Amino acid sequence: MRFASVTHEGRPLAVMIDGEVATPLLDIAELGRGTTASLLSAPPLYEKVSFPVSALTYRPVVPNPGKVICVGLNYLAHIEETKNVEHEYPVLFTKFATSLTGPYDDIPRPPESTAVDYEGELAVVVGDRIRRVSREEAPAAVAGYTVADDITMRDYQYKAPQWLQGKAWDAATPLGPWLVTPDEVGDVGSLTLRTTVNGQVVQEASTAQLIFDIATLVSTISEFTTLDPGDVILTGTPSGVGFRREPPLLLGDGDVVVVEIEKVGRLQNRIVDERVA
Ligand code: MG
Repeated sequence: MRFASVTHEGRPLAVMIDGEVATPLLDIAELGRGTTASLLSAPPLYEKVSFPVSALTYRPVVPNPGKVICVGLNYLAHIEETKNVEHEYPVLFTKFATSLTGPYDDIPRPPESTAVDYEGELAVVVGDRIRRVSREEAPAAVAGYTVADDITMRDYQYKAPQWLQGKAWDAATPLGPWLVTPDEVGDVGSLTLRTTVNGQVVQEASTAQLIFDIATLVSTISEFTTLDPGDVILTGTPSGVGFRREPPLLLGDGDVVVVEIEKVGRLQNRIVDERVA
């Protein structure tokens, strides 16, 4: 099953999507802390109402997550292109709810940065409150999967040893368009991820190449922090990022970035120069 956070005629709704038809979830305005994996397995639907998906505006699939935890350097070829070394523990950083934007929204290119870059990634939406779960217990705590573009201001990422300021820019991380439940995705460890810029393929990899797989990431993160329903984990990007290409391919006004993961979904965002008064 597929679920999304949308607005319809300005009203926020969580919906189940079946083909071209969306049905609202009863009394649930958005996916998040209230939409556990258990609830989504038998969703309370407002059966009398349905909308064509063309009438919806998609918000970030989880608009207000309690936590957005991101994994860096989780594909070997990306570690090599960034001239980093492989770590025995995942490299973790965070974003905020305000860092997120919708799956088809324009992404503002801020006047402060001259190095805006893309990172296509598989994202996990947590579906249960968990702490210190094992690898074996972790899959049951996943509500579903979605697509993220970990848009990064490279010049800000490297202003200091911590990456936060380059990774958590406001409204620069598209997430969506929907959450796909694990039963519909099947084997999450063999999905093809592809990123294009203006139609040119710049990243293409399989989730089979993840150094730390989904179960390991959920288990490892839950060791130090409680994970709640609606929390989001970005699992890292494969090689091909713009900053490390020869010559570099940095995003400019009007560029269109698409990130697509088979069986999960597709983001499409245009970069637009941000005018600051
Ligand atoms: Mg990333």
